Amino acid sequence: MEHATASLYLVATPIGNREDITLRALRILKEVDWVAAEDTRHSGQLLKHFQISTRLISYHEHNVAQRIPEFLGYLSVGQSGALISDAGTPAISDPGEELVRACIQTGIPVVPIPGPVAAMTALIASGLSTRRFVFEGFLPSKPSQRQAHLRQLAQEPRTLIFYEAPHRICQTLQDLIACFGSDRQVVLARELTKLHEAFWRGSLAAALEHLKTQPPRGEFTLLIEGYANSDKGLRKPLSEAEIRQELAQLLARGLSRSTASRQLAQSLQGSQIWTRRRLYDLSLQIKATDAEHSDPFPSEGDDADFTGG
Ligand code: SAM
Repeated sequence: MEHATASLYLVATPIGNREDITLRALRILKEVDWVAAEDTRHSGQLLKHFQISTRLISYHEHNVAQRIPEFLGYLSVGQSGALISDAGTPAISDPGEELVRACIQTGIPVVPIPGPVAAMTALIASGLSTRRFVFEGFLPSKPSQRQAHLRQLAQEPRTLIFYEAPHRICQTLQDLIACFGSDRQVVLARELTKLHEAFWRGSLAAALEHLKTQPPRGEFTLLIEGYANSDKGLRKPLSEAEIRQELAQLLARGLSRSTASRQLAQSLQGSQIWTRRRLYDLSLQIKATDAEHSDPFPSEGDDADFTGG
């Protein structure tokens, strides 16, 4: 595949099930001059399975500084290459990011070949809100740094996604309980796309109990519901009467219609039905007598800042 302008292809490979490789990924892996892989033995088995004999070169966190100039050298003489990860999409929680940046700085085209990502695979089947989410990857391994990081995330309203090694999951759950409280909903997505794929759903405290009886084995992705989402997530959606009651309570506390509808929309995050605009419209139907306060509504001017959904 020698061309005047060679490219670096970022090729996603399966996270377990080999049927998840794309036709395009297979073609690129056959056509390039070299394939950079974290673990050449592991990736060698994958290439062998698909009868691909392209040269494999190791690229991992301990040889980044040595390999990057080597790869740039191959690319500069017209030899295209592919970067693959041990599982899933390269440059997600692996040293791929440095190579991508070096290519961009040198003017070498970088071409993504999309495919499986453990985080997305876990998220879509988690039952937690998929509307807004944060990918956190691996937490710091040092306990003090891990806890400090988690404390910063304690009030994050979006669904949180973490990667974790099985031997550290129980410790991470303990740290999560210390920072997020024991009731927060968690989903443990285990061995995705493999024979023993399993999803466990419940509170952080129950997850820890569960892992005491069933010690963690295999690959895990952890998903945590966002802060203040406990009224939805895995529970049934609120009825209109319940929504009305919550709005009335917020108004009774002296909040403007605009602020009350914004706050409630945030806490119902993930609801396609109860948008901020719809909540505001509903709040207009709530009479002062609905609320527990004789004059809960501020002046009209206070509500005039409403700008939409
Ligand atoms: N680049 C990969 C991706 O696209 O998802 C992730 C690589 S990261 C080094 C490896 C971590 O991803 C594992 O520790 C685990 O948390 C998660 N992971 C990978 N495969 C998985 C699977 N089959 N089931 C659940 N989690 C998985």
